[in-house]
Amino acid sequence: MIISHKEIVKREESVVDDVVCNCCGNSLIHKKTSDGHIICKEYIRIEKLFGYYAEVFEDGERHTVHICEECYAKWIATFKHSPKQIR
Ligand SMILES: [Zn+2]
Repeated sequence: MIISHKEIVKREESVVDDVVCNCCGNSLIHKKTSDGHIICKEYIRIEKLFGYYAEVFEDGERHTVHICEECYAKWIATFKHSPKQIR
């Protein structure tokens, strides 16, 4: 059982100031709203935690990348098999 009450609590939170493409370094911000929030352009986010059987990276190594739409288009043009799907 939880017994609680209402209280105004001031705490520190992480606020995103910008999202940057890992490939080209350009900002992914489309615009900032009047209340300080950011609206981003389209981008790809990849997160990978490498495990025991990783051959190039360390076990437990975590990668997080943000890639803008333009860089993603250039990247997938180098793929042997396109990830594009027709609706
Ligand atoms: Zn980019």
